[in-house]
Amino acid sequence: MTRRRSSYRVMRSLQRDNRGCRACVEAGFPLESLPIVQPYEGQRAYMFGQAPGIVEGEERRPWRGRAGRTLRRWLQLDEDAFYATFYCASVTRCYPGKAPSGRGDRTPTPREQQLCSFWREWEFRLIRPRLIVPVGGLAARRLLGLRSVSECVGERYEREGSVAIPLPHPSGASGWLNSPANRGLVEGACALIRAELEQLGDASAGG
Ligand code: SF4
Repeated sequence: MTRRRSSYRVMRSLQRDNRGCRACVEAGFPLESLPIVQPYEGQRAYMFGQAPGIVEGEERRPWRGRAGRTLRRWLQLDEDAFYATFYCASVTRCYPGKAPSGRGDRTPTPREQQLCSFWREWEFRLIRPRLIVPVGGLAARRLLGLRSVSECVGERYEREGSVAIPLPHPSGASGWLNSPANRGLVEGACALIRAELEQLGDASAGG
């Protein structure tokens, strides 16, 4: 049974309830994993993806598959540095299963997205991330109201005290990354992210 309190004061209790969440299953949606919730260790940067894939669902950890490796390569971060730098969450947090067409994974429905936004909203309140990186079109739409990655990769947005720098989904499933010009935009976006991370590091060092 899903448990959601009316308010949370610490990430530990929020995450404990999130790990037990079955709200979408209770609403009749077919999910194929339990929630993927990364342990919170004080990260001030927040990576916001679409939904876990099959590998993440099995390992119960975000960005474990090929797309995760690509993302780390783009950002020039090894695994340890990546997870120490970013708290990784997503629009929905359980593996949604294959798409009915058999091509790729099912896109979470608007109702599932809405049910899962509860967890993100509380995370933002408790973590107050300085840097947010939406990954893929759905994440950019949910967070920034943007229509597509084409209009936002390479841009930097101010959002309620945070900086948001979107990236396309690294799976390359859309074909958007096939264009050299678009790959140049990704390099520019990653340079912006690295500059923000440097500033975050300086701010942490300065207390
Ligand atoms: S996708 Fe989100 S809201 Fe739905 S069951 Fe999983 S954790 Fe809960």
